Amino acid sequence: MEIRKNAIYMCIFWLLAVATSFAVNYHGSLQEQQRLALFTARSHFKEILVTRQWNSRHGGVYVPVTDKIRPNPYLDVPDRDLHIDADLTLTKINPSYMTRLISELAEESTGIRFHLTSLKPIRPENKATELESAYLRQFEKGLVEGGEVLVRDDRPYYFYMAPLRTEKACLQCHAKQGYREGDIRGGISVTFPFEGKAPVMIMLLSHVGIALLGLFGIALVSKKLQESYAIIERQAVMDALTGIPNRRSFSENIIREFDRSRRSGEPLSLIMGDIDCFKAYNDTYGHSAGDTCLRRVALEIKACLNRPGDLCARFGGEEFIVILAATKSSGAMTVAERIRRAIEAMRIEHRQSLCLDVVTMSFGVSTMIDSNVASYEELVKQADAAMYHAKQGGKNQVSCHGE
Ligand code: GH3
Ligand code: MG
Ligand code: MG
Repeated sequence: MEIRKNAIYMCIFWLLAVATSFAVNYHGSLQEQQRLALFTARSHFKEILVTRQWNSRHGGVYVPVTDKIRPNPYLDVPDRDLHIDADLTLTKINPSYMTRLISELAEESTGIRFHLTSLKPIRPENKATELESAYLRQFEKGLVEGGEVLVRDDRPYYFYMAPLRTEKACLQCHAKQGYREGDIRGGISVTFPFEGKAPVMIMLLSHVGIALLGLFGIALVSKKLQESYAIIERQAVMDALTGIPNRRSFSENIIREFDRSRRSGEPLSLIMGDIDCFKAYNDTYGHSAGDTCLRRVALEIKACLNRPGDLCARFGGEEFIVILAATKSSGAMTVAERIRRAIEAMRIEHRQSLCLDVVTMSFGVSTMIDSNVASYEELVKQADAAMYHAKQGGKNQVSCHGE
């Protein structure tokens, strides 16, 4: 029962441990995805930064004017457009314009959006959003970068932003805004779709598997423990040699029967039996044959008991004791005589016996009537004394206490 209770506690503990592991793993997986998103965004930012640097170090690059690429109205430099011939005009693309063009291309093909922004933009479309403004203010205070998951139109996005520092080449356009080399001029935000989902199904299946495996292990171990416990419990009350109840079992039973008999007023009898001349038997046939004889005798005594409440136990070496509940003296004498005859009838050869040439037993009977015995120990003593009397009388006989 205790094992079963402990097994239930262990199962609960195990399930809690697996559930905690699931929660920790789920949370860790989400964090890992955000970390990956931050790395991705940072790489995109650095890539665009390098592209801008390349552009600004060349003082801008010229590309042909097309329907899509028009001259930049915010680029106030004398050599902005170069008319090569009637069909070809080249226009200067500065880093800001280039960032915008790349952003448009990237958004179209990959969903990644770069937004060049500033608290003091030259181009009104570069005005910072509320979130970007908040980040830009944080950059002024020393923040080096920032990223977070946003939900826009019910879809999650990863938003990243890092500051843009003024380089020497930038002063060409931005000096008039009062910027100096090294100043934070603005920032570039990088936004891309972010699923950020943990692999719930795989994690759930693996954790359910682990949980079931653990529960199976606990069930298996507790079953084995229960079996071992039952064996130990059985061994504790059974005599190893004869397989009948041992003296401890007798004590537990006689206490119970003695109390019951005193309460009910019903008689209670004991039969103490001892193999005659057993030392001589061992000496003649050997200890192993003696053991076999003890086993056969034990089974024979057991077989002579008819009522389910009767109990036969091995009391000591070659001594056996029988509890006969609700049995008066005459009844107990009858049973003892039946056992004596049965043992004799087994005809186990015993040449050195002082009685017959077969194994015999002497018996002493004691009975409590109307609670006339103070303790069960007293009742045992009386049966033992009666048996001693039977031995004195020539063995292979039954003697009753008080007669
Ligand atoms: P009595 O007729 O007066 O009872 O004589 P006895 O020889 O039977 O009595 P005694 O007490 O002198 O000897 C009991 C013997 O029982 C001695 C011991 O070797 C033997 N014996 C006790 N337990 C075992 C056992 O487990 N196996 C075997 N083979 N012999 C045992
Ligand atoms: Mg003996
Ligand atoms: Mg003895």
